[in-house]
Amino acid sequence: MFCYQCEQTVNGTGCTKAGVCGKNEDLASLQDTLTIALRGIAAYAYHARELGATDEKVDAFLAEGLFSTLTNVNFNLESHIAMLLKAGEINLRAMELLNKAHVERFGVPEPTKVQVGTKAGPGIVVTGHDLLDLYELLRQTEGKGINVYTHGEMLPAHAYPELKKFPHLVGNYGTAWQNQRREFEEFSGAILGTTNCVLIPKESYKDRMFTCGIADLPGVTHIKDRDFTPVIEKALAQPPLPENLGPSTMTGFHHNPVLALADKIIAAVKAGKIRHFFLVGGCDGSRPSRNYYTEFVQKLPEDCVVLTLGCGKYRFNYLDLGEIDGIPRLLDMGQCNDAYSAIQVAVALAEAFDCGVNDLPLSLVLSWFEQKAVAILLTLLHLGIKNIRIGPSLPAFITPNVLKVLQENYNLQPITTPEEDIKAILG
Ligand code: SF4
Repeated sequence: MFCYQCEQTVNGTGCTKAGVCGKNEDLASLQDTLTIALRGIAAYAYHARELGATDEKVDAFLAEGLFSTLTNVNFNLESHIAMLLKAGEINLRAMELLNKAHVERFGVPEPTKVQVGTKAGPGIVVTGHDLLDLYELLRQTEGKGINVYTHGEMLPAHAYPELKKFPHLVGNYGTAWQNQRREFEEFSGAILGTTNCVLIPKESYKDRMFTCGIADLPGVTHIKDRDFTPVIEKALAQPPLPENLGPSTMTGFHHNPVLALADKIIAAVKAGKIRHFFLVGGCDGSRPSRNYYTEFVQKLPEDCVVLTLGCGKYRFNYLDLGEIDGIPRLLDMGQCNDAYSAIQVAVALAEAFDCGVNDLPLSLVLSWFEQKAVAILLTLLHLGIKNIRIGPSLPAFITPNVLKVLQENYNLQPITTPEEDIKAILG
């Protein structure tokens, strides 16, 4: 980027002429964090708006926050930090807005078993986050003999009554976004990408890939006004998919069904049957070090319960962790925006046990990758939640000084090894 104030090119970590124009690495780091978080908030606000839900405060902050990142407008470190915490507060509003919009349009999610793999016959796989796109596609494919599959962050769609009522929404295919190019190459039907975390396709399946809404890829047909006719025609023209079913997985542990289990959960904690809750999830990525999250969940003692969300869940959602007194040990709460549900559960448990959220037997072990994860992390910091572990590595835009502030105030910690972290948490 070019700094118009001191007229030199800076490499993204900030201007080296600190003190001349007032910019420095730490301010640049805070501004980058805010810009990235604003993108995440904008994504949630966009989805809510598509469903007819808006919030003036969210919209106003998007303008204010973006304005505050202009060069030469604000050189005050404290006010940058305050702006980040406000971004966390506003992101909570945006997630609440989206949750309300989803529930009003598609019903309250309910725990649902989802078949994994493909069924014999024509098929369309849908990736991304936009439930409205999926709903419209389901409506338009009714009675056409086409099976529709979710991919990546679409998995929680199976839990919403107004989506699961379509019998041709048959299951989930594939895993997280970073595996798309392999998984879509192997999927012989049509493919629809609805939002972010959609990858540029290989030539081998480019002609059967489509995008809609905000997603758009070079050389790929873009669907306008949710008229999915070209996707349907392509699915019917392709050779049928083979019957290739895997094990099932569970989703739909929205805060409503989880809080319906509150009495059971509280009794199990008081009886010492549940020792600790872990929220393990967030955004996935391709680095091998992300195997940490699989191993972490595998190595947890049997008296621990795991809440999860985002596409990080694919690291372990195929595991059968069993139950404790009828409470599943692995609870998939939904998409990354359903961090709102996790917060509702944490707040309700804190009330039930008459303590603060930081005093609960609850630890957050998050995987971060992109904009929404940054916005959610700021929400957790805004709520004063401490001792969060984050990995697989710390964001490159966080400078040592900014990290020091986060560690001193929130005890934010990088992950180490599953064994060391479990020992440190459980003792
Ligand atoms: S959880 Fe994050 S990385 Fe995964 S698909 Fe959603 S936004 Fe992308």
